Amino acid sequence: MKKQKVVIIGAGVLGLFTALELLDNDRYEVDVLDGANPGDGSSGRSVGMVETQYFTGKDVQVRAFARDVFSDLEENHGVGFTHCGYLRLGKSEDDMARFQESQKIQAGFGITDTELLTSAEIANRWPHLITEDVVGGLYGKWDGYVDGYEVCQTLARLIRQKGGRVHAGTPALAADFIEGMWQIKTSEAAFDADYVVNAAGAHAGQVGDMLNAPVPLQPQLQGAITIKLDGATSGTPFVMDYVPGSGVDGVYFRSEGKAHLIAGLHTDEITGDIVDPDMQLQSVTDEMLERIAGLLFGRLQNAEDLQLDRSWQGIYPTTPDLKPIVGKHPDKPGVICALGAGGSGIQLAPAIARIAAAEIKGENNAGFEIEEDWSAKRLHN
Ligand SMILES: Cc1cc2nc3c(=O)[nH]c(=O)nc-3n(C[C@H](O)[C@H](O)[C@H](O)COP(=O)(O)OP(=O)(O)OC[C@H]3O[C@@H](n4cnc5c(N)ncnc54)[C@H](O)[C@@H]3O)c2cc1C
Repeated sequence: MKKQKVVIIGAGVLGLFTALELLDNDRYEVDVLDGANPGDGSSGRSVGMVETQYFTGKDVQVRAFARDVFSDLEENHGVGFTHCGYLRLGKSEDDMARFQESQKIQAGFGITDTELLTSAEIANRWPHLITEDVVGGLYGKWDGYVDGYEVCQTLARLIRQKGGRVHAGTPALAADFIEGMWQIKTSEAAFDADYVVNAAGAHAGQVGDMLNAPVPLQPQLQGAITIKLDGATSGTPFVMDYVPGSGVDGVYFRSEGKAHLIAGLHTDEITGDIVDPDMQLQSVTDEMLERIAGLLFGRLQNAEDLQLDRSWQGIYPTTPDLKPIVGKHPDKPGVICALGAGGSGIQLAPAIARIAAAEIKGENNAGFEIEEDWSAKRLHN
């Protein structure tokens, strides 16, 4: 049987996981194009958290799936995974009720290692945290972080081993759709395709325009810092001091080695500056640095001794309704979207990829309850 050709634009986690999903059988010839290198986009600039501490069955299901996928990468393909634990802080009895519900939901997906902690228990385990304003926490023991760049490089290797091709330094520059076939042009060659996957991260808006299959994207500027902070920083879990739906971003931090912490600001909403994806990414701005430091002072006992080590900017590829856009584009045949994962793309990528690949394979669904919420069909609403 003649293989179907798939060109994936973008070798971040979303594009690379999608390629691997397609290569689990021999029906597809897969070329992944990247203007830079696998992992050079947001994926390599992330802090790589993979965790399941969410509040609805839909949100937990996709992360439980990711947990299995990342376990496989860790156990069978040498990807480093630091199981530092994930601590979501709660400031009210309402938060604690949501945490309890989350624990039940997670247990329904076989995740039984989460704990509900009181403020005293948190202070006891991690005495360097300031907990006066904390009622308690939801703690995921298995949770932890990967290096997004290493994940992408590993996925690219696995794709090549399975007969796919990953082309670094190969930006997609133009596209034609003639007699039902796509032709994607790069400076070196033209690639014919039955399907084109838009997995271009923060550039997905530009690639969508190039394909005449527009997608709304509001790329948000974010960043992270590493700080040196002597004292009891080693063993600090990933602490998330952001309340989803609060309308303001919050600080997160975790230990990095014995005397360092990585910290940044997180939001599941649009609170950051919307930026041009071609902007020059540099160190974080003084404004962001001051905000992170100010929030750390309120959460860490010895924060006045912190010294900035380094910092970097990165972009959340966010959509206006904050949900990924996945599946067949409603306007243009053969265009598949795998984009818009915002600040959670590392942990959502396995599910996004499975859904995108299922649409190419002609399967009715990939088995996730969230598929309709994420569907590219909503671009017509
Ligand atoms: C500071 C920071 C911290 C984060 N922390 C976390 C976290 O802890 N956990 C989590 O789950 N997520 C986190 N994220 C979010 C996560 O990094 C992103 O959601 C995810 O990496 C998006 O993956 P992607 O494949 O869509 O995009 P990308 O990784 O950006 O990949 C897109 C690729 O497309 C390529 N490209 C663009 N245009 C073209 C073109 N025309 N032709 C060819 N190639 C093209 C780019 O070179 C790029 O490599 C964080 C992000 C940032 C910035």
